[in-house]
Parts: sequence; structure tokens; C-alpha cells
Amino acid sequence: MSEAAPWADVRPGESRALHITVSESYSGAEIRIPIVVHRAQQPGPTVAVTAAVHGDEINGVGAIRDLITNRPFQINKGALVLAPVVALPGFERHSRYLPDRRDLNRCFPGSSSGSLAGRLARAFFDQVIRHCDYCIDLHSAAVRRTNFPNVRADLSKAPTRRLAMAFGCELVLHGKGPQGSLRRTATEAGCPSIILEAGEVWKIEPAVVEIGLRGVRNVLIELDMVEGQPVRPPYQATVLRSTWVRAEQGGILQFHVAPGEPVSRRQALATVTDLLGRALHVLDAPRDGVVLGLSTMPAVKPGEPVCHLAHPQGGLKRIRAALAGADAHSLAERLRHDLATNVEVQAAGGG
Ligand SMILES: [Zn+2]
Repeated sequence: MSEAAPWADVRPGESRALHITVSESYSGAEIRIPIVVHRAQQPGPTVAVTAAVHGDEINGVGAIRDLITNRPFQINKGALVLAPVVALPGFERHSRYLPDRRDLNRCFPGSSSGSLAGRLARAFFDQVIRHCDYCIDLHSAAVRRTNFPNVRADLSKAPTRRLAMAFGCELVLHGKGPQGSLRRTATEAGCPSIILEAGEVWKIEPAVVEIGLRGVRNVLIELDMVEGQPVRPPYQATVLRSTWVRAEQGGILQFHVAPGEPVSRRQALATVTDLLGRALHVLDAPRDGVVLGLSTMPAVKPGEPVCHLAHPQGGLKRIRAALAGADAHSLAERLRHDLATNVEVQAAGGG
């Protein structure tokens, strides 16, 4: 790919909004996605920040909007390429999927003679990602779930590990990502990429936006593009394993834990009650973990996911100690509180 980047003529110190043509509508109109490029005075790496690769996951759209309008930090080196909505045709339908029912995040690097999704993937990959040195891709949980903010990256590779740890989430999950995902494909093509998974679909949640902004700034400080000190979380743990705890009977969920909470083996996570409020069964943690995700749909059937537990390396003792000393007004505590407003959390046995 020897073609110049679409932002090749953006001068040092300049910021510019551009459009990338990725598809066409039924009427033949061009479908163009907006990007904003900030180029610093000094040379340095080019970092892409992308959102809404799944069109319904718009927390990242809010974070990038803030990066564009409020310019919360100054970049001194390199360039920042901001793509607030990658899967524009999905975004238009509030949908994870593109109009051809494909998941764009399984179609990278795409094909210029392939499906609608494949062509869109190709257009974005060739015009944007191939011209970037790093990528931070912002996601939310799938529909009817919320995620405690966590970064996912291939921790076996030094560049992705470096970005993932620098971002500054408490939980850092190891994995290459699914085949065809932007982060896996970009990393393999020489653009080390990480993702943030945070909050819910169809929402721009203030504390999640704040985590996104803080993380992008932390990464840019790590890459020597921004001056200042990174903001660190109360603790940081890597996660190689996680477990979904699933409903055993149909009924209504009442949670006893909130996102981000450390839980011990056998601790009650949720009670499933019948429609008259009688307890049917209590779901326990199969082993020590931290609550990574919860269902936001309180009605469940057997086999449906209820609680996603991360099992951090090094156990819970260090995590509990770090959280015990955390300021109640810190971002970490506000996040735990805000995400829990979306689910009913009551003490176990509390009726
Ligand atoms: Zn996603």
C-alpha cells in the first residue's frame, strides 16, 4: 500500500476534518465517514482512535466527540486520527450489524470485491489503519449487558502489552481478538491495537467517556506524544481467564454485586426469583474474581448469561487492599456506582 494517507497534506500544527468514502447508498450517494486529524509540530507516531466499529456502541463516539471539541490535551509529537463512527450504516440503524447483517468487526481487512461489509472494511483499513502506527478501538458491551471498563490486547506481544498497560484500566484481558476483528488484523498488519470494552450500547455514559479520555491521554503520554503524568487506576491486574455465570431457572434477577466488585468463591452474585418475588435459586461465584460484566436484562431463562467474572492474576488480596484505600469520589468509585444504577443491586438475603 504505497498510496499516501488522506491526511498527508495536513501541516504540522494543523487540525482538519476529512471524509473517507467507504460505500454508497441505494440512491448512489457516497457514504462517507468523518475523521479528524490533529498533527503536532514535531514528528512522531500516528495514533488512530476509532469508535462505533459496532454501530450501537456509542460510548466511544462520546469520548471522541470530547477529544475533538474540548481538546483536553495538547499533542506535541506525531498525529492523532479520530474516527468517531466507523460502521456508519450500522450506526444509522442503532445496530451492531451492517445492513447486510454482517459484523464489520469480523470482516477486516476486507476485500474490494467482497460483500458490503467486506468492502467497507477494506476502504477503512486501507485509507486509515494502514497509515497508522497504533490504534485504540473503543467498544461497549453487547446488547443487554454492561461492562466494567477493561482493556483487551495481545499481552504476549510487547507493543500491544505496552499500550494496554499504559491505558490504565484496572483489568487488562489477554487475547488476540476474534479473526477479522480490527484490533487483531491491524496488529498483524503492523499497527499494534488495543480495545476498550466499557459500559452499555446506546448510551454515552459520563464516567465511561472519562475513562476513555483518560486512557487515550495515558497512552499518548506513554508514546511521548503528550506531556504530563499518566493517571493510574487504584490497582492493575492482568486477566487470562474469565467465566460466564448463567441462569439455571427462568425468572427475575436481583443482583448482589456491582460491576468492578471483587467477589470470593461461593459468594452470592444474584438471586433469581419467580414473578411473585419468591427466591428460586442463588447464583454463586465459581471462584474468586472481579465482576467484569452483568446482564442489564433482569428477566432470564436457563442458560442465559448473568454475570461475567474476570479471574485476575495474583488473586484478590492486593485488589481488595487497593480498593479499601480508594477515594469515594474517584473515577474508579464513580464508575462502580454509575454502572450499578443500571441493575438492581441488593445485599444477599435482603428480600
Ligand atoms: Zn464491540
